[in-house]
Amino acid sequence: MTLSNPKELKSVIERHGFSFSKSLGQNFLIDQSILDKIVEGAGIDKSWGVLEIGPGAGTLTRELANTAGKVVAVEIDKSLENLLAETLADFENAEVVFADIMKTDIRALLAEKFRNMPVAVVANLPYYITTPIIMTFLENEIPVKSLTVMVQKEVAERMAASPGGKDYGALSAAVSFYTKPKIVCSAEPHCFLPQPKVASTVITLSVLDKPSVEVSDKDFMFKIIKSAFGQRRKTLLNALSKSPYVALEKSSVSAALESLGLDSSIRGEKLSLSDFAQLSDILKPRGIEPHKL
Ligand code: SAM
Repeated sequence: MTLSNPKELKSVIERHGFSFSKSLGQNFLIDQSILDKIVEGAGIDKSWGVLEIGPGAGTLTRELANTAGKVVAVEIDKSLENLLAETLADFENAEVVFADIMKTDIRALLAEKFRNMPVAVVANLPYYITTPIIMTFLENEIPVKSLTVMVQKEVAERMAASPGGKDYGALSAAVSFYTKPKIVCSAEPHCFLPQPKVASTVITLSVLDKPSVEVSDKDFMFKIIKSAFGQRRKTLLNALSKSPYVALEKSSVSAALESLGLDSSIRGEKLSLSDFAQLSDILKPRGIEPHKL
């Protein structure tokens, strides 16, 4: 069975009377070279476990199960149950859990299914949940080694952006705090059935053993970062002193910038993550949390 062959995929879909749901982002991959690149990007072998999110017809699941020791795939759509039972029948090391990943206790699932195996996450999901899911893994420090995800091209560019450019923002800062990002490949609309409207990019985020910079209070630093990028056209000084996330006096922000040798007219996108960490450590003792946040 070669599910990357559109004829074979259509035939299995028809046999099971499956119909695609737009709202669940059901665009299934039909390009073998992209499947190969995703598996390679995940950096797995037989000693690894894979948590796949959104297996669809099982096309990628089969490839992952050929390479990894064990694959657990979380799929929200119960109408794929019989279809997946057929497409994964030959793979004793692949298991499907029917659940909404947004409502799943992922930490408990990993502990139950993988015990001490290193785990890679692989996901080709609807765009609106991909970034929240990535942030759930990173912010909660869920123990996985990497996340290989298909995202909208622009989102991948923002994730991998360096300070100074137009793509650099709060997402880039969070990604570089927790991971080392690497673009794997792009996927044009014709690589999917049915074709989506926009092009996608596969990116691997290799989770760092410890965050890339030291900071005394990472939550406070991310409030500073969110404030800086929430109002990009403002100077950093104005964005921070009028922030809806932290209460800071203009004079203390000004003094902090000066002590770091940063110009008072600087904008947030010019600061590196290490600048934000230092700024946060200086401002933290003076920050008063606003009441209604
Ligand atoms: N991995 C398959 C492939 O590449 O051909 C299918 C990818 S398709 C873009 C997205 C899959 O994610 C669909 O099967 C969809 O039902 C599933 N999905 C959507 N939302 C989900 C959620 N919240 N939890 C788990 N799976 C979800």
